[in-house]
Amino acid sequence: MNRKSFLQSLGLLTLTTTSMKVNALHTLSQSLRPTARMPVLFFGHGSPMNALENNVFTQKWNDIGAQIPKPQAVLCISAHWETKGTFVTAMPNPKTIHDFGGFPEALFQVQYPAPGNPALASEVKHLIKKTEVGLNEDWGLDHGTWSVVKHLYPQADIPVLQMSLDYSQAPAYHYALAKELAELRDKGVLIMGSGNIVHNLRLIAWDQMHTPGYGFDWALEANEKMKKMMLAGDHTALINYKTLGKAFELAIPSPDHYLPLLYILALQKANEKISIFNDQAMMGSLTMTSLQIGD
Ligand code: ZN
Repeated sequence: MNRKSFLQSLGLLTLTTTSMKVNALHTLSQSLRPTARMPVLFFGHGSPMNALENNVFTQKWNDIGAQIPKPQAVLCISAHWETKGTFVTAMPNPKTIHDFGGFPEALFQVQYPAPGNPALASEVKHLIKKTEVGLNEDWGLDHGTWSVVKHLYPQADIPVLQMSLDYSQAPAYHYALAKELAELRDKGVLIMGSGNIVHNLRLIAWDQMHTPGYGFDWALEANEKMKKMMLAGDHTALINYKTLGKAFELAIPSPDHYLPLLYILALQKANEKISIFNDQAMMGSLTMTSLQIGD
């Protein structure tokens, strides 16, 4: 075989392999049946200890898991996975990541062995036009995801994927990117964000750990204003939170725990109902405030 025909055959081989892969992915992604539109949820996750506890917040998570239609997969945007660029977890068996320190050994023992769904990861990659989404094989499920999903689906029988937050991008970018996920809601995918809308760890009132509902004035002010804007559908104001003054500056000192909220708001359809739950401050500078859009 001469060099040219060797290269041609190689090219042909590459083409065949690529199209076989594409066909295989196409077939697999169609394994997600069309469904009634899934709700979208933002969870204030708070302390990783919620993974082990049975409290007012986790009881609500449990109730939601039982009340909403059972999804075919979960796609979580967690505050705890920030990357340069956007990635989606694409491994068949994501590991449980214990991304914290200083907690009891029992928390490090928690495993949440939900499968992944590589075909869905590819579908997410192809759905998003705004950027080239990378397929990630290394991450897994961080505590922003498993501390909540463990209470939603204790059996760990539903595939769970994560999508990362691109730390180099502005809030409006995240909001626009999230809109490209919309059709997954009609394929039985539960899209959830996990963070905290008021989250300032530097100002935590450690001496108020056991005072339910304890919030500093600025924390309560920012929390109330955010709720009003959410209920009014004023997403523009929420995207431009940096212009909203001192209470917001203190409530959102870094965007990681706030941005997952924008992903969820971006998926709200016109006139879709919104309900707020776990609306409670903690330790001064945190709120657990969460929301469900649709039902
Ligand atoms: Zn967190």
